[in-house]
Amino acid sequence: MSLRVGVVGGGQLARMMIAPAVELGVELRVLAEEEGMSASLAATAVGDYRDAETVLAFARDVDVITFDHEHVPQDVLATLVDAGVAVHPGPDALRFAQDKLLMRARLQELGMPQPAWASVETVDELQAFIDQQGGRAVVKTPRGGYDGKGVRVVSAGVEAEDWFATLAEDARGGALLVEELVDFSRELAQQVARRPSGMVRAYPVVETVQRNGVCAEVIAPAPHGNERLQQVAAQIGVAIAEGLGVTGMLAVELFETTDERLLVNELAMRPHNSGHWSQDGAVTSQFEQHLRAVLDLPLGDPSPLSEWSVMVNVLGGPAEGSLGERFSAAMTEHPAAKIHTYGKAPRPGRKVGHVTAVGDDLDEVAYQARAAASFFLD
Ligand code: ADP
Repeated sequence: MSLRVGVVGGGQLARMMIAPAVELGVELRVLAEEEGMSASLAATAVGDYRDAETVLAFARDVDVITFDHEHVPQDVLATLVDAGVAVHPGPDALRFAQDKLLMRARLQELGMPQPAWASVETVDELQAFIDQQGGRAVVKTPRGGYDGKGVRVVSAGVEAEDWFATLAEDARGGALLVEELVDFSRELAQQVARRPSGMVRAYPVVETVQRNGVCAEVIAPAPHGNERLQQVAAQIGVAIAEGLGVTGMLAVELFETTDERLLVNELAMRPHNSGHWSQDGAVTSQFEQHLRAVLDLPLGDPSPLSEWSVMVNVLGGPAEGSLGERFSAAMTEHPAAKIHTYGKAPRPGRKVGHVTAVGDDLDEVAYQARAAASFFLD
């Protein structure tokens, strides 16, 4: 009997689960938000993921429900669980990826290293935290942020007045998250897979490079990472996966501070941009691993295939035409680079694809990935 996985959300993460699903003999179905999305080639339904009946009807024909994003509301998830649907990651874990305030509180209980933080409900409370931190802090909307939207460096409480006003209009009420402005030397990410019956596997910790709050490049493993860094990052990832009961892939975004501590920035409970390198650079890609994990199958080996992998995002794409029109030049010049496209129309700032190169010489690998990716930009 073939196993069926239902993915809620039709973005590029769902799209990149399609190839490994075919290889594994898993039937992948997608509930897409609209026609023509990245994962539309596997879409069996188009509908609103905020509507419990729509998601439940989609879930009836699959063995497990998983996600392309973390925006499915808790009441919809509860409906699925009440109806006996297997949901991975489950709502009790997913809420910590949906709400950064809940995440901070829970990570504190687990004793995880993280920036100093507070929940603030007024401009005055925010100002008090800023004063405590020497005049600057990072304020965040707890829900719905991505790619740096919903993150603001402030030096006065009034700079978040508009966000407090929006919260006041929200029937759920609520607070903003404020954090110390971390003096980090670089950003890292740790991927961990966990299956419901408990097995966990940690990928090597990677370095992520952000530009304008968006991930631009990932180097795997993180350069200059000694064994201690690898171990500490993996321990944090595994402790969070187990402590929160995560099932499927977990990405833990980390800051490495100038005094060599690791602090948890945020969590994603799904395949993540920082793990795309694994498609070409690891024995088991994060997309295959996610499918194995949510189906409670034995996990694959997360080891790297080569010394280095570098993944470069194609942000925006060409001003005119499609990515495909640039294939010929990119492929001719860089035959070893692996090109991945998301079936999206180019638009400034949009993630439309990525390029990965692997090999034993980091400078050469980084050059190949960057140069091949540049063919898709103007
Ligand atoms: P998003 O949910 O939009 O990805 P993040 O919380 O990951 O938001 O923040 C986006 C970026 O902002 C981070 O990658 C980091 O560069 C910067 N940032 C976030 N929190 C802090 C902090 N406490 N100190 C310093 N920089 C931060």
